[in-house]
Amino acid sequence: MQYISTRNAATRLSSAQAISRGLSREGGLFVPELVPLLPKDAINKYRAMSYQDRAAAIMGLYLTDYTKEELDSFVKAAYGPDAFDTPEVAPVKTIDDNTHFLELWHGPTCAFKDMALQMLPHLLTAALIKTGEEKQVCILVATSGDTGKAALEGFRDVDRTKIMVFYPRDGVSDIQKLQMTSQAGENVGVCAVAGNFDDAQTGVKAIFSDPKFRAEIAEKGWFLSSANSINWGRLLPQIVYYISAYCDLVNRGAIENGQEINFCVPTGNFGDILAGWYARAMGLPVKKLICASNRNDVLTEFLNTGVYNRVREFYTSISPSMDILVSSNLERLLFELSGQADEETAGYMTRLTKLGRYEVTPKIKSRLDNTFAAGFRDDEQTKQTIGEVFKKHSYLIDTHTAVAYGVLEDYRKNTGDDTPCVVVSTASPYKFCAAVLEALGDKEDTDGVGLIDKLSQVSGTKAPAPLAALKTAKARFDGCAEKDAMLPVVREFLA
Ligand SMILES: *Cc1c(COP(=O)(O)O)cnc(C)c1O
Repeated sequence: MQYISTRNAATRLSSAQAISRGLSREGGLFVPELVPLLPKDAINKYRAMSYQDRAAAIMGLYLTDYTKEELDSFVKAAYGPDAFDTPEVAPVKTIDDNTHFLELWHGPTCAFKDMALQMLPHLLTAALIKTGEEKQVCILVATSGDTGKAALEGFRDVDRTKIMVFYPRDGVSDIQKLQMTSQAGENVGVCAVAGNFDDAQTGVKAIFSDPKFRAEIAEKGWFLSSANSINWGRLLPQIVYYISAYCDLVNRGAIENGQEINFCVPTGNFGDILAGWYARAMGLPVKKLICASNRNDVLTEFLNTGVYNRVREFYTSISPSMDILVSSNLERLLFELSGQADEETAGYMTRLTKLGRYEVTPKIKSRLDNTFAAGFRDDEQTKQTIGEVFKKHSYLIDTHTAVAYGVLEDYRKNTGDDTPCVVVSTASPYKFCAAVLEALGDKEDTDGVGLIDKLSQVSGTKAPAPLAALKTAKARFDGCAEKDAMLPVVREFLA
């Protein structure tokens, strides 16, 4: 299986090369040249397997230059009992005959990014060996919250790697900040930036594109890489849980093998829902992928009109991981739906950078209509949803998941489509205590770790152990860099 770039399909690489490179040189993203189909009777075979074995089998269809032994050892380490608090790894909870929640937050940081970031370090370090890379890798991350912590946990004490995370001093919740500053591990660094998320991201990009600095650290045996969701090694592990959820529903008799289902996905950078698209393209019986947004409704508009327009107001919301105006992974979908037309895809991306908008062809638009539906929900509606679901089903969901459930309710009302649906649940409600408490009618003025106990009392549920442990956690990292002085922090980190 070879990988090609969305902006130059003549670039062909092995999966190990694509994963170690991350981004193609001309700025494109790597995709598999062909989407592999699920083997005959795959669902019946996977049904009998553990999550780990399903993951090894499915990833193996894409990673033909990795051995089965490698993949078996990666899935054991990534999704084992040290990392996940349930042997099911990604359990499906059912609230009524045709509504299910796929819980992707049982990993070390209690958000769905663990599903990919527990796996990526294994894929990446093996890729370095396969491609003959002799230098060690330094992962640089700018985070608005969830990615930074999940990347720190994934790369903690991984051989031949170091990881440095920058977060905006005033842009993350108290819980998110303490999660990062108390991070354990010998190879980790965490630093605040005096600015917002864009400042942190701009600073990291500037470091990446500084040839002098690259040369300087190359002499010391280091090169820079990124853990964000443009790397194929982050997308691939996410395909697994769509297929796994389907198997679980067949196993419990909720659906027949072969019956179509829908997925409703709280969406930001379009990585999660794109993995669902790949699962569908592999032959998983999926009718619609429902794309859910918060008030930042750029994707709703795009999927409904075919026009992507990032020139709009940016809102901060109670579902911060979906506060995004440019969804990078959409590029992969445009490439696939255009029939792998690299020039056309590159053209959209150029227009997005230069003009802030683009419109897709009628061919792409009709293919989008065939597979996707879209909607958005604001903060007030989202809080109301959390309260209603808890009252009616005694099931507590976080703000991101509640956006998706609300959008699903609208979708069902507007279309009459009552196909069984899996709502992808992306974070533990305990990561967003203040908003969830308010939704339950208990408005608090603070946003600290003290709210964890409060939410536990009010909801009668138990906080996940990694978040409960924050109550006694000590910060190890208290540095704060000016936004134009991030490079010296990395230099010192690698010294
Ligand atoms: C990152 C994130 C999302 C959005 O996922 P994308 O792959 O960026 O679309 C949704 N919910 C939570 C909790 C997240 O951390």
